Amino acid sequence: MIKITEVLRKKGLKVTPQRIAIYAMLSNTKSHPSAEEIYKALMPTNPTISLATVYKTLDIFKTTGLVHELSVGNGRSNYDANVLVHPHIVCTKCGKIYDFEIQGLNSLRNQVANQTDFIVESEQLTFYGTCPDCQKN
Ligand code: ZN
Ligand code: MN
Repeated sequence: MIKITEVLRKKGLKVTPQRIAIYAMLSNTKSHPSAEEIYKALMPTNPTISLATVYKTLDIFKTTGLVHELSVGNGRSNYDANVLVHPHIVCTKCGKIYDFEIQGLNSLRNQVANQTDFIVESEQLTFYGTCPDCQKN
């Protein structure tokens, strides 16, 4: 169990109940929620939380490297507390975003750097398709 208070303190962040709630929610899900989904999930237990606070907090978390913001082309941002580089696959029917493991990401990054002369700072690798559940329908 991660001590969320310590995680926040190590990043130099002031610890507030709302920050704890948001980070706890994100680190306990694999669903890559949007800000609105986080807000709706927390509202019942945190009645004073506002959508603006969620957005502001996510922004701070993003800047301090606590969460990753994903842009998978669905018109909103999705958030991931797993900040280790990993690819995603998105269901074009239900919109769910899944993690998966892949070999050779470092080699891919090196190839990009070599071919473009860029210093590569980040990457997002996203695949699209139909998930097993949606294939049944
Ligand atoms: Zn699906
Ligand atoms: Mn992920």
